[in-house]
Amino acid sequence: MNLAEISLNEQRRTFSKVWIFAIIGCLWILNLSTQVAEASASCDGAPYLVGAARGDITGPIVGVGMMGYADLGQLDEGLHTRLWSRAMVVSDPCSGSTIALVIGDLAMVFHGLKQAVIDRLEHELPGVFTHANLMFSATHTHAGPGGFAHNTLYNITTYGFNPDNFEAIVAGTARAVVTAYKQRQKANLSVSSGHLYGYQFNRSPEAFDANPAVDHAALPDMADTEMFLVKAIASDGTPIAAFNWYPVHGVSLPLTNKLVSGDNKGLASLYFEHQLGATYRKDQEFVAGFMQANAGDISPHDVTHGSLPKTDGFERNEWSARGQFNKAWQIFQSPVAEELRGAVTYSHRFESLAYRKVSPEFTGGELEATTCNAVLGESFAAGTLNGQPFPLFVSHAIYGKTWPRITLMPKEQGCHQEKVLLLPTGFAKPNPWTASVAPFQLLRIGPLVIIGAPFEITTVAGHRLKEEIKRRMAGDGVRFVVLSGLTNEYLHYVTTREEYKVQAYEGGSTLYGPWSLAAYTEIFANLAIDMSTGRQRPAGAPPPDLSHKQVVLPHPVLFDLAPRGGKFGDILVDAKSDYKLGEVAAVEIWGAHPNNSLAPGFSYLTIEQWQDQNWKPMFFDWDGQTTLHWRRHGLASSVLKINWGIPLDTPAGLYRICQHGKSKAPVTGKLSPYSGCSSGFKVGS
Ligand SMILES: [Zn+2]
Repeated sequence: MNLAEISLNEQRRTFSKVWIFAIIGCLWILNLSTQVAEASASCDGAPYLVGAARGDITGPIVGVGMMGYADLGQLDEGLHTRLWSRAMVVSDPCSGSTIALVIGDLAMVFHGLKQAVIDRLEHELPGVFTHANLMFSATHTHAGPGGFAHNTLYNITTYGFNPDNFEAIVAGTARAVVTAYKQRQKANLSVSSGHLYGYQFNRSPEAFDANPAVDHAALPDMADTEMFLVKAIASDGTPIAAFNWYPVHGVSLPLTNKLVSGDNKGLASLYFEHQLGATYRKDQEFVAGFMQANAGDISPHDVTHGSLPKTDGFERNEWSARGQFNKAWQIFQSPVAEELRGAVTYSHRFESLAYRKVSPEFTGGELEATTCNAVLGESFAAGTLNGQPFPLFVSHAIYGKTWPRITLMPKEQGCHQEKVLLLPTGFAKPNPWTASVAPFQLLRIGPLVIIGAPFEITTVAGHRLKEEIKRRMAGDGVRFVVLSGLTNEYLHYVTTREEYKVQAYEGGSTLYGPWSLAAYTEIFANLAIDMSTGRQRPAGAPPPDLSHKQVVLPHPVLFDLAPRGGKFGDILVDAKSDYKLGEVAAVEIWGAHPNNSLAPGFSYLTIEQWQDQNWKPMFFDWDGQTTLHWRRHGLASSVLKINWGIPLDTPAGLYRICQHGKSKAPVTGKLSPYSGCSSGFKVGS
C-alpha cells in the first residue's frame, strides 16, 4: 500500500504499530495466450472513434479505513470531493480494435477489482472489453475508503474487505466505460507536452544520487518534469477529453485528514472539467484524466526536513492541483500538437513473478540474475526520511552493512541481497498477501505507446523503462512512450539496481528483489515484440480468484435518532447573516448517518441561491470548495457540518446551505428522506 507516505514522523509511529499488528497477527482469460490485438493500418485519414465519460465511485464516506497511509485510526468521517472513474475509449476506424483508458480516484488498483469491472462489462457490452484492451489505473489518492483489495495485506488496516465500497467502485467504473463506449464519435486525437517545474519533490535523494551520471544528466530536477497530454476533439470541434501523465504522489492531504477526496489529481480534474462547463449531472461532458506516472519517489511537497510543511493540507492540495491544472490547460490550448494516426492495438500478459531468471541483456551483463519471492524490507517499515524512526525500524537498513547478518530465511535473504527481510508476504499461506502473478500491458494508438505498470516506479527506473520501450519500438514507428503507474494491480515499488543498494523506502518496498526492474523491463520488452510482430505466446495462468475468501466485518447503520424534541434536518448551528467572498460559510445540521444514502450522483449537500422566487442549487458535494463532516452525537444521532469556501467569483446574492440524506427507523429499518437548510445569508454586496 503505499505505505510510502509514512515518510513523516507521526505517520511512521502509527504505521509501525500497524505492522506489528500485521506481523503478529476469466471469465476473460480467453485462450490463455498473450493477447495481441490485430495490428492493421488505420484507414488513411479516417478519424478515430472516441468517447469519454465519468462514473461516480464514491463508497461509504463514514466509518471505513482509508486506503494509502495504512493507519488503523484513519477512518473516514465525511466528504471533500466525490471520487470518480474517468474513461476514454478509442476505436480504430479500420480494424474496429478498441481500447479503454480508465483512471480512478483510488490509492491503487488490484487485479480482483479489475476482474470485477471486466465481468460487469462483459455483461453489459458482451465481447468488447477484456483485461487486454482495458487499462485501469489509480491516481493514488490516499483519501478514499479502502477494503477493495482481495490480497490480505491491504485489508488489515481497513478492518476487512468492504463489499459496499467494492461495489461502488466496480459499478461506477463500469458505468464510465459503458457510457464512454456508447458515446464514441468521430474525433481527432493529438498529443503535446510541456514541463512543469516546482511541483515535485524527490523524497529519496540519497537513492536518486546513487544512479550514474547519465541519469542525473537526463533528470537534472531529480524528477521527470514532463507533462504529456493526449487531447480528443470531436469532428464538430467539441472537446471530448484530455488525459495527461505527470508524476507526483496524490498525498497532499495528510494522514490526519478524514474527508474522502480525490486529492491533488482528483481536484485538478475538477478544475479542468469545470473550465469546460462540466456539471457532473450529464453524461456528455468533457472529461479530464490526470494519470500517475513515474512518481515512486516524488512527493507533492517538500518533506526532506522530516515533517509536513506548516501549510494546511487543503491549501497544499489546492496548490498542487492548481499547478497541474494550469499546465495541462496551457498544453491543451497550445496550437502545437501532433495529430495521432495509425492503428489502435494492445498486448497484455499475466506473468508469474517469483524466481524468474532474467536475461543478461537486462541486467547489465549479470549472468545469474533472478527475481526472489515477494518480501517487504525493513526500510519499508521505517519510512522514507530521517527523523525519529520507530526504535525497531531503521531507515536505510542494509543487510550486512548497517544491519547485522542475522536472518531466519538465509536463502531468501541471499536473493534479496541488501534488503533486510521483514514481511515475507509472498510466502503467506494459503494465499500470498501480495500479488504473485501480475498483469503487464501495453496500449498503442499510432505512434503512442502507453505502458500499464502494475507498481509505483521511481523517477529514474521509470525513465529507463520508457526509453527502453521507445528504443525497441522506434523502428516500428513508435515515437511517444508514456507510463501509467499503479495500473491493473499493485506490486508496491520498483527502483533501479543502484537505488536498491541504498535501501531507502522505495528499495525496501521493491517486492521481488534487486532484479525486479530488470525482470519487469524484460517482460515489457517482450510485450513490445508481441505488439510489433503479432507474435502469439503461450501465457501463464491468471492470478487466483480470491473473491470468495474475504473477511467481512459487519458495520451496518443500525438506526438513526432525531435530536431530542426535534426532527431530522433541524439546524444546530445556523449560518451568519452575511459573508464576504473568500470567507467560509459554516452550518451544522441534525441529520442521519451518511452511509444510508450511498448512491452514485447523490449529493449530501447543496448550496442554493435565491433566484426568480425559488431556491436554485448552485454547488454540490462534488465541488472542491465544499466539505461535509459527520460526527456522532449520543447513541444514534448525527451532526453534519458543512463548510462552503465561497469562491471569489460567486455572484452576489442570497444563499443557503442544505443537507440531504435518509434516516433509518429503529426496528423497521425503513429509510426516510429528509432535507434541512440554513437560513438565507447574503454573499458579496
Ligand atoms: Zn506511493
